[in-house]
Amino acid sequence: MENTLIESTAPVYTLSTTSTLSGIPVHSIRQYIDKGLIIPFKKESNRNLFSQVDILRLKYINNLLNEDGLNIAGIRALLALIPCWAITECSLAERETCQAYHSDAYPCWEASEKGTLCKNTNCRECEVYRIVENYPDIKSFLKTLIP
Ligand code: SF4
Repeated sequence: MENTLIESTAPVYTLSTTSTLSGIPVHSIRQYIDKGLIIPFKKESNRNLFSQVDILRLKYINNLLNEDGLNIAGIRALLALIPCWAITECSLAERETCQAYHSDAYPCWEASEKGTLCKNTNCRECEVYRIVENYPDIKSFLKTLIP
C-alpha cells in the first residue's frame, strides 16, 4: 500500500508522456501551469515532471472546463475559496499580511505575498493545494469543516 502511494506521487512523467496518459494536449497542460492550476515538479534542469496524482488533477481541471462549463478564471476563483487560513491555522496577524487571505481571484499558492507560515513551504506538498486530489470536489472538503 505504501509503495503504491509513493509511486502515485512520484514525479516521473515528462510533459509529453503526461499528455499521452491524460489525453490532454501539451499546450493545455502548459496553460494550466501558467495559470497556477497545477504546480509541476521542477527538475534542476527546470524541466517539468508529473506524477500519477498530477495526472488525476489535470483530468479534474479538464472536467471542470469541458463538462462543468467553467473557464480558467472560474477555476482560479473556485480554488481561491479553499479556506487555507483555517487549514494552516494562520494567526489573525498573519492573515492581515497575506494576499491569499484577501484575494478571491486566485488560489493561495499563486499569492506573491504570503504569510510567514507559507513562505517556506513547498505548495506542491501542501495539504491545501492537494485538496482537489483528496476529495471528489471542493464542496465535499468544505463539508468536513462545516458539517
Ligand atoms: S503553503 Fe502554499 S498551498 Fe499551502 S496554504 Fe500556503 S500558499 Fe497555500
